[in-house]
Amino acid sequence: MMSDPTPWTMTARWIFPADQPPLAGGVVTIGDDKIVAVEPADSRKADVDLGNAAILPGLVNAHTHLDLSGAAGACPPTNDFTQWLRQVIRFRGGRSLEEVEADIRAGLAECLSHGATLLGDVAASGSSWNALARESIRAIVFYELLGLPYERALASTAAAIFWLDEHEATPTCRAGLSPHAPYSVSAALLATAADLARRRKLPLAVHLAESPDELSLLGPDHRGPFVDFLKELGVWEPGELVASPEMVFDLCAPARPRLFVHGNYLTPPRRGRARSRHSSLVYCPRTHAAFGHPPHPFREFLKRGVRVVLGTDSLASNPDLDILAEARFVAARHPDLPGETLLRMITLDGAIALGWGDVTGSLTPGKSADLVALPLPEREEEDPYRLVFDSELAVQRVCFRGNWN
Ligand SMILES: [Zn+2]
Repeated sequence: MMSDPTPWTMTARWIFPADQPPLAGGVVTIGDDKIVAVEPADSRKADVDLGNAAILPGLVNAHTHLDLSGAAGACPPTNDFTQWLRQVIRFRGGRSLEEVEADIRAGLAECLSHGATLLGDVAASGSSWNALARESIRAIVFYELLGLPYERALASTAAAIFWLDEHEATPTCRAGLSPHAPYSVSAALLATAADLARRRKLPLAVHLAESPDELSLLGPDHRGPFVDFLKELGVWEPGELVASPEMVFDLCAPARPRLFVHGNYLTPPRRGRARSRHSSLVYCPRTHAAFGHPPHPFREFLKRGVRVVLGTDSLASNPDLDILAEARFVAARHPDLPGETLLRMITLDGAIALGWGDVTGSLTPGKSADLVALPLPEREEEDPYRLVFDSELAVQRVCFRGNWN
């Protein structure tokens, strides 16, 4: 469906632009596929009144694995992380190509139903590209690289280059690279992927400091359950491992933007130490909780000026792919966290983290008209963000590039 070139206006009880304070009864003007104006109440007559609802920017889920959407219940999270990885590998091994494609479609449908208009999806073999490029959603498809032994790293790089050459960006779908994690890629592969991302101007995503076992593996004497796990897989190459999370930051530095996923056991940067506007930390709240980790350090990162955004992770570890539910989970546990910060974590900052911040992520004149309508509870609140986050009401409608889905 083509979007309407004649500008039209809409209002609701609250407008949350994400780049400025909420507007009670504000008016949003949309022309063609773009936002034309965001104005206070009564500044002009609204063609559409959504009533007791919020208009929010389209939601951003910065970390998914749609290809694992069939894994619900198959790999229950446990505090034995390598045991969980064994289950995921077993699940993947038993899935046919057709099943994986169906899983991706099911996961994507779930994301769309929860109001996501931008996804950062890590995909083995880049398998989610076709589904994502076809749908009314923006995406970065992060091609996953694996390889600790030299030959595997080499083969993985060659396959990634071949895939990138075959998948040129569309208006809504772009490629990225994801060297998987410090326990599954060599230092050399991380450096190669970061350099490839720099040369092709692609975002980079790496899982980092997800478990204490990962940190034991990277230490000077390479200890812990990952040693047997990697031996079992026939990829035990201690000389190829990075030495620390800091080394991962350094090796990834050429790529921009870059996303570090989880960071459950990362130490927040020292005060005064330069932070990069090109880096973001992706916190996956309910997945983090399901594995029983100690409290996540994201508040400390926020305090130090690091951009923190939210992701659901996959259905192998999370109950659903509802990014608003992640934010509500955080709100319930951190009632003093400003609603403005939390909203940005699932909208504007998520878009910036994925490299789409100039196009979407906030209700800003000139940006794409990507927004959601969320029914609000009947009650009054002094802080309007509480109507969004202290509620169980679900996103009702999604407008993508000026069209209601
Ligand atoms: Zn992940």
